Amino acid sequence: MKKKETANSRARNIPKMDVLLADERCDLLLKKHPAFFVKDALRKAVSEIREGILDGSLSVVPQKDAIFEKVSSMLAKSPFTLKRVVNATGVILHTNLGRAPLGKDIIDHLEGNMESYSNLEYDSERGKRGSRYDHVSKILCDLTGAEDALVVNNNAAAVFIVLNTLAKEKKVSISRGELVEIGGSFRIPDIMKEAGAILCEVGTTNKTRMEDFEKSLDDGAEIFLKVHRSNFSIKGFSEDASLKDMAYLIHSNGGILIEDLGAGFLLNPSLFGFHHGESVKKHLEEGADIVCFSGDKLTGGPQAGIILGKKDLLEKIKKNQLLRIIRTDKISLALLEKTLIYYKDPYLAKEKIPVLRMFFSDEGKLRERAEKLSEIIKKNKDYETRLIKLKDEAGGGSLPEVILDGWGVSLSSKRLKTKDLEEGLRKNDVPIISRIIDDKTVFSTRTLFESDMDIIGEFFNTFKV
Ligand SMILES: *Cc1c(COP(=O)(O)O)cnc(C)c1O
Repeated sequence: MKKKETANSRARNIPKMDVLLADERCDLLLKKHPAFFVKDALRKAVSEIREGILDGSLSVVPQKDAIFEKVSSMLAKSPFTLKRVVNATGVILHTNLGRAPLGKDIIDHLEGNMESYSNLEYDSERGKRGSRYDHVSKILCDLTGAEDALVVNNNAAAVFIVLNTLAKEKKVSISRGELVEIGGSFRIPDIMKEAGAILCEVGTTNKTRMEDFEKSLDDGAEIFLKVHRSNFSIKGFSEDASLKDMAYLIHSNGGILIEDLGAGFLLNPSLFGFHHGESVKKHLEEGADIVCFSGDKLTGGPQAGIILGKKDLLEKIKKNQLLRIIRTDKISLALLEKTLIYYKDPYLAKEKIPVLRMFFSDEGKLRERAEKLSEIIKKNKDYETRLIKLKDEAGGGSLPEVILDGWGVSLSSKRLKTKDLEEGLRKNDVPIISRIIDDKTVFSTRTLFESDMDIIGEFFNTFKV
């Protein structure tokens, strides 16, 4: 009874909210953080202290200094659930980690352009209503040689609207080797059905020849769909008809060739000594009437579905009522326009678009960064580091066969199990996502930003088991 009373009376000595709110340190916090967060943190801190006093776990009532210290560290943590992470996996287009990172120069474009009104659908030259699509279609055509362009919410939507417009109630011919599932339960045969197309399977899983497409023309197919094998490859006894041959045959018979590229390079990757994948421009040159791909895969921009091709076909798609359901928003359009502008100079694109920079990283530079990272980590004497060669990946269902030679740091600690370190890294305020190889924590340097190095350094500076 006595004990309880003293606890209660001690709890009365906890500084009151109005006293804390009137303190000048509170004003300082309000300059850095929204008032809602500051008040919330103060309330939480006071209530934790009260509980501690009442249950006896706190014997001394903390005063203002200690309370503001506690509140500052609470506010230093991110209040958001969708937030930055450090991707040390070496998988560039990591589907779980937001696919393409945009980079500061691209994000900066939103400032000034998006915080106010914009000419999203207004042609200020002519003083008339304009089209949101015009902001990116010209540059997309310039970069790819396409006659026209359209951008929708994502590539799944792009595939759907293309089929729904051009292939509804029509026979659509596709190789059995391309009836794929992309992930997130996006299955080509199901999407075709939902779009109203009549599926005509052609060839076999491993071999589809020109004769097979000839036969399906005879069977009345008007539309031909080619789908990129995003997340698998067919090796060994296999054969595919080339895009060029298909286009020749299909066009001679009045058909339409649609290609779902999944991911699209808007520059020629061999310019940077990279001999996998081809530019979107090449696919159009080889005869695809329509190509579509994601804005946030190899293009390295925001989430978007980019549709390019023949003007008359695009005109039809633009008239489809369903376009409104999948239309792209002004923020994505602004980010996409900024991304696309860099492509006017491929060398600038490589420098400014993080996905390209990561893709075409020089192996020597990756090793240098691994050395630097190793030095940063070794400042904590509990850890031993080793530089290792790594096999990095494009990821995101873009180039499943391609392995990128990279460098990383493998660490071990005498005091800590790999599993516990992985968990500590993952639960950091800025989660650090690593790889585990041979029961060791590994950081790949390919997918790290310069500022990630500081975050990792800070982690090893302060992490306690
Ligand atoms: C990724 C992918 C899609 C889906 O694109 P989203 O932008 O994720 O909607 C469709 N088709 C192929 C071949 C893909 O690789």
